[in-house]
Amino acid sequence: MNNNDVSKSDRRKFLKLVSGSAALVPLAALGACSGDKQSPADTGSESGPQSSPPPKPAKEAPAGSSSLPHLSEDNAQAKALAYRHDATTVDKAANPRYEPGQLCSNCALYLGKPGSDWGGCSIFPGKAVNANGWCNVYAPKAS
Ligand code: SF4
Repeated sequence: MNNNDVSKSDRRKFLKLVSGSAALVPLAALGACSGDKQSPADTGSESGPQSSPPPKPAKEAPAGSSSLPHLSEDNAQAKALAYRHDATTVDKAANPRYEPGQLCSNCALYLGKPGSDWGGCSIFPGKAVNANGWCNVYAPKAS
């Protein structure tokens, strides 16, 4: 056996190994694309700094939610409409429409859930009014 024979034999072994490995690579690639349950982040095929999920829109509390910020009696619109957190403190002389028993919680414009202490109001969007409050836009709920 001379050097040429050895190198031919080594070349044949090398080519066998390479051709066998080359056949495995496409099979592995097919496995990655065959719809198996791996996420793109697992395979690394689509991951990257630009592939982060889109930002979620800021959630706004629903009008009936008591998580809305409470309306301040000092709010300009609240003052203009004589809003009070406690209807029993309404100045009857200045607000002749007020009748005892009129409360935000039984006003047609109240958006709070029954039994909640605070709730939204159609007149003060984005704010919660007190269930025991009142303003001069009060309209009785239809029974
Ligand atoms: Fe209360 Fe009705 Fe006035 Fe809203 S409109 S603040 S619910 S009385």
